[in-house]
Amino acid sequence: MLRDIYNRPARDLRISVTDRCNFRCTSCMPLDKYVWIERQEILAYEEIARLARLFVSLGVEKIRLTGGEPLLRRGLERLVAQLAALAGLKDLCLTTNGALLTEKAAALRAAGLRRINVSLESLDPEKFRRITQRGELKRVLEGLSAAKNEGLAPIKLNAVIERGVNDDEILDLVEFARGNGFAIRFIEYMDVGNVNDWRPDKVFSKREILARIQSRYPLREAPREDPTAPAVDYEFADGGGEVGVIASVTEPFCSACTRVRLTAEGKLVTCLFAETGHDLKALLRGGAGDEELKQAITAAWSGRNDRYSEQRFTQIQSGSECQRKKIEMITLGG
Ligand code: SAM
Ligand code: SF4
Ligand code: SF4
Repeated sequence: MLRDIYNRPARDLRISVTDRCNFRCTSCMPLDKYVWIERQEILAYEEIARLARLFVSLGVEKIRLTGGEPLLRRGLERLVAQLAALAGLKDLCLTTNGALLTEKAAALRAAGLRRINVSLESLDPEKFRRITQRGELKRVLEGLSAAKNEGLAPIKLNAVIERGVNDDEILDLVEFARGNGFAIRFIEYMDVGNVNDWRPDKVFSKREILARIQSRYPLREAPREDPTAPAVDYEFADGGGEVGVIASVTEPFCSACTRVRLTAEGKLVTCLFAETGHDLKALLRGGAGDEELKQAITAAWSGRNDRYSEQRFTQIQSGSECQRKKIEMITLGG
């Protein structure tokens, strides 16, 4: 199996199918104008499926489709069908802002998708609009119902918590999730990309998130099925479901990070905070055979020494700043 410099395998592949998005979330890509990847540079579904097959042959077990907003890519169900049929793949998931789920849920389910994650940062329509700049809460809530009706399960909500913006909604979000049978994962606000104006004091920490939840719902730590998964899961003591917290800032987990990313333009990226990627598209379109592509993937992963969140943690402790020109999250796939 593929191993990097710190002996970490490549188990989870995140595929960004487009860098385009119908939202402009303040936490991710607030800019109105952005230089989008040219259409002809975006990998075709057949190209993505071929690379995915090679990644699986090298040890990848889980694939997540993301972006940008993956549901903006036309005919996504065709890609889902190809990936769902991959021998050896144990899990296929999709992360979406949910705005187009009403239209897409049935086709995705029919193509073989079983579960989804939906990002939801606020239940207040006006605040939702402020956070996403273009989103309409009603559409996302309708999308969630459509996904549930189509039998997608489990449905997990992802909520990034930014201090002073939506930390006051943690209990509302928990109640909404519990009331609808959704799992929920809170995510510490991260310094992804270069334009979200991140500062350490905007991070509402895992400790604070848990304290807020425990003030109403006692929790107990759940047994971890996958010790490398970034979210530590908790169960409500009253049996009302589960909640996770992804504490990338206050409890970094780089030493267990098994995530490899493929951008919409075919670059292999070894960290969410990377400055560059490894171009697989040039090889793919230059006529490379499977073995040559596998060698390129192996070479990129074997040289991986990323541990940005651990370095950031040390820097925050020492009061210094992380300065790095990163690839935008919208491009490399959240
Ligand atoms: N557009 C889709 C969505 O929003 O779900 C998929 C791509 S989005 C980049 C993937 C995830 O990144 C979402 O769950 C989003 O909430 C999360 N995210 C965005 N900005 C973030 C930040 N600053 N820190 C942590 N997570 C963030
Ligand atoms: Fe928001 Fe997701 Fe779009 Fe980023 S990619 S702006 S998190 S909807
Ligand atoms: Fe993985 Fe990079 Fe995040 Fe560390 S900072 S957990 S290496 S993606």
